[in-house]
Order: sequence, then structure tokens, then C-alpha cells
Amino acid sequence: MHLYGTQTVNEKGHLTIGGVDVTELVSEYGTPVMVYDTELFKERAQGFKDTFERKGIEAQVAYASKAFSSLAIYQLAKQQGLSLDVVSGGELYTAVAAEFPRERIHFHGNNKSKEEILYAFEERIGCIVIDNFLEIDMIKEIASERKQKMNVLIRVTPGVEAHTHDYITTGQEDSKFGFDLKNGQTDEAFCALHDHEYINFLGMHCHIGSQIFETDAFRFAAEVLMEKMVEWRKSYQFICPVLNLGGGFGIRYTEEDHPLEPSAYVEEMADVVKLMAEECQYPIPEIWIEPGRSLVGDAGTTLYSAGSTKEVPGVRTYVAVDGGMSDNIRPALYDAQYSSAIANRMNEPHDHQWTIAGKCCESGDKLIEKAFLPKVETGDLLAVFCTGAYTYSMASNYNRLPRPAVVFVENGQHQLVVRRETYEDIIKLDLPLQQKEREIFK
Ligand SMILES: *Cc1c(COP(=O)(O)O)cnc(C)c1O
Repeated sequence: MHLYGTQTVNEKGHLTIGGVDVTELVSEYGTPVMVYDTELFKERAQGFKDTFERKGIEAQVAYASKAFSSLAIYQLAKQQGLSLDVVSGGELYTAVAAEFPRERIHFHGNNKSKEEILYAFEERIGCIVIDNFLEIDMIKEIASERKQKMNVLIRVTPGVEAHTHDYITTGQEDSKFGFDLKNGQTDEAFCALHDHEYINFLGMHCHIGSQIFETDAFRFAAEVLMEKMVEWRKSYQFICPVLNLGGGFGIRYTEEDHPLEPSAYVEEMADVVKLMAEECQYPIPEIWIEPGRSLVGDAGTTLYSAGSTKEVPGVRTYVAVDGGMSDNIRPALYDAQYSSAIANRMNEPHDHQWTIAGKCCESGDKLIEKAFLPKVETGDLLAVFCTGAYTYSMASNYNRLPRPAVVFVENGQHQLVVRRETYEDIIKLDLPLQQKEREIFK
């Protein structure tokens, strides 16, 4: 069994995270509960930062916070000296509430509204990553009206699409994001921005995929973007001070995944950029990266209580837990794989095959198709590992299930950082029919 970060098994055979016995967490907070190993988060953050420092390259490591957005994780990111990617007014609002340093906030999104852009100006954030021509117009208009400067990057599609185990280079990328690098859109965007009075054009951004194990894909993207930068220097005498190469660094969900150390991806990127800058005598740009999953993914574990079981003779045995697609949509959404264990009996052989089902009214609500566990008893604690990214942030109230509690653990201490939803929370936006409407809608 693979344990992550500070996880151990104590003398009672219980899983511990951050030095805390998970059965203690469950008696305090109930299930389902999401537990974050903050030491592992910090280790990952420092790993990225140290790599750039070792290479002598100016950098910003921006936490792509759509992976898990909350006040406490933003505070932790701030404390670790990270920058922050937000993709909506709601995430920006959360960052503001967490008193995140505005100059280190970067705003992404392929359809930012005028209100969202205005909000970014009001908060004087560090950078807007522009995605399309409508946005260029809106930003120029707002900047001119307010006589306020804004740093911008433009998001480009460099024609490389990376998946877990391989990548493809496509001439023209079919993506809803960004400006195409090859067909002239990127140059057009650059020309519309780089000499504007209130626009401080920093350079280009790309994000080529997610859960990538392949360093060549990052290398390719870095090369393509550097080539464009060199071209702009020749044609426009313009030097881009920043190169943003996005996130997407893969992590280990199951034993089938063999990622490199997260910082190894960054090391390759830095080397390529450095080499090309040297060859072209181009000033080494500041490199920005945007890890999401690789900062919070394996730091998170979800604990569920086992409920009913059902045997389908000759086919499989189900065990149902007290959560499911409402707190982790990834298996149903894209067949994501996870590993698991019975957290209160870690030392028993995990050699029976189970299918872990959720409690939502969907046949597809299965968390793990093939889980190896001891014989599960009702009331056992089921740990699903590596659930820190794109789970709580995608959670819903489907079937009106309250969303779980989220707890940070470190050094034998634990702290509730998102409280469990209550039934009251669940109806708090609902408005009852008024007397008059009751008549209309009867
Ligand atoms: C989602 C996203 C990321 C983070 O991706 P991970 O796979 O979680 O590392 C980074 N940059 C952008 C622009 C994104 O949309």
C-alpha cells in the first residue's frame, strides 16, 4: 500500500495523517471529511520554488486554485510565498477575503465578464491573462477610462496537447482557450496590446494539459514560445519579460502512475529556456508556472464511513459509502482512478476485491471500480487517497447531500477550515412561494 506525505500506520493499525489518528478526526468532524496534509503542500511549494532558485531564474509559482479554493488554502499559499491563479470573480473574492497580496494574483478565464475585469482593476491585481479579442477590447477600454495600468499576458495555444503518457503536436489546436500561435491570432493580439498606453504587456502564457508525466511536452511548448519571443524582438524590438508555462504536472493516483518529482518538470523547463535564451542572446525571462493538482492532489485524503454492502454473485461486491459523486465527481466525469484503504484496519491484508459506490441516485456513482480491501464491515472507515484536487472544488449538493467538512492536519494538530454543510445551509437560497404566487402556480 502506498502512503502519501506524512501518512503512517500507528500501533492500533490506524491511518495517521500529519501525526493525527484519522479515527480521532472522524469522531470530531464526522464523515465524509476531507483531510489535507499541509506539510506535504508546503514541501511541494518549496520544491518548485527551490528549483528555480537553484537555477538562478526569477520565477513565480502560482497556485492554480481552482483545484481547491478556500480561505485557508489561500492563506497557506500566501504564507509559502506562492502567487495565485484565479479563474472567476468568486475565486478573486475569496483571495481578497484571505488578504492575498494583490500583486501576486493572476486572473485567467476564457469568458471573463466586464464586471469581473472591472473587479480585477479595482483590486489592482498583478496580472490578467487575456484569452480572446473581446477581452482585449474590454481591458483597453477599462484601462483607458480609469487611466490605470494593468499587466497582461496573452494565453496562446502552442499546438501541443499533452496527456498522461504522451503528447501530440497539432498544427492548429482545437481549443476553446487562447490565441492560436500559428495562424496569426497571437501576433494580432500582441499588436493590439504591446504599445497601448495603459497596458503593460508581459508576454505569453500556455497551459498544455493536465496530469502530464512527459517532460518533452513542456520542453516543446517552451521552445515554441521562445521562438515567438525572438521573432517579436526582431520585428518589433520588443522583449517579453515573462514566460508563463502553466501547470499540469502529473501525480500518483494509483500504482499505475509513475510521475517524476514535481520539481523535475520545472527543472527541464528552466533548462530549455536558459539554453534557448543563451543561443539567441535573449534576456532570460522570468518563468511563471501554475501547479494546481501537484500542490494539493496527494495532500488530500477523503474519509468515508462504509454503509451497506451488496453482492452480485459471480460479478462483484459493492460497498456503499456516505458520499460519492457529490464530493468527488472525477470518477463519474472522466473515469478517474483512485486507491483506497480501510483506515481503521490498515495492517490487515487488503486482498478482497470491492467496488466502492457512492450514495447518489446514479448507477454511475462509483468511486472505485476495483478496490482491494479487507472484508469491509459496516462502520469501517474508508480512506480514498489523493483526493485533494478537483474534488471539493467541484462538489455539488446533488440529492441535497451536504458538502463535507475540510480539515487541515500538521504536527499532531488539526483545524477545521471548511465546516460541513448543514441542512439549513442547503435551503438557504430557497425562497418559499408567497400567498399570491401560490394561487398563480397552483
Ligand atoms: C487548471 C489550470 C492549471 C492547473 O492545472 P493542474 O493540472 O492542476 O496543475 C494551470 N493553469 C491554467 C491556466 C489552468 O487552467
